[in-house]
Amino acid sequence: MRIADAAREIGVAEHVLRHWDDIGAVSPERTAAGHRDYSDEHLHRLRVLRACQEVGMSLAEIRLVLHRDESGRTEVITRQREHLRAQRERLEDAERFLAHVIDCRHDLLTRCPECSLYGDPGPPA
Ligand SMILES: [Zn+2]
Repeated sequence: MRIADAAREIGVAEHVLRHWDDIGAVSPERTAAGHRDYSDEHLHRLRVLRACQEVGMSLAEIRLVLHRDESGRTEVITRQREHLRAQRERLEDAERFLAHVIDCRHDLLTRCPECSLYGDPGPPA
């Protein structure tokens, strides 16, 4: 598969695939004319890479994660999961804040003690 088709299939720009090739993350075969030729296996790796990126991993971290035997792999994944959990808590806070704001009876949010509490990280743990 040509790079343009692979890029469309994965949902990234072509230059992203070229970059991933340059750094050795996913390196396709080359046609006789020198064009990149992505196999099903390459597409599969690209999808995994894209999924890892979408949960916020860096390319360096993804390279560790792609190989089961890499040392440091479990730490990278554990750290990423903690990071996602913290993000989820922030999003849930934001959602609670908005749920309150829509019903808040104060004419100005800044006069509402409850509204003012949101976003306050509280005492250090
Ligand atoms: Zn309020």
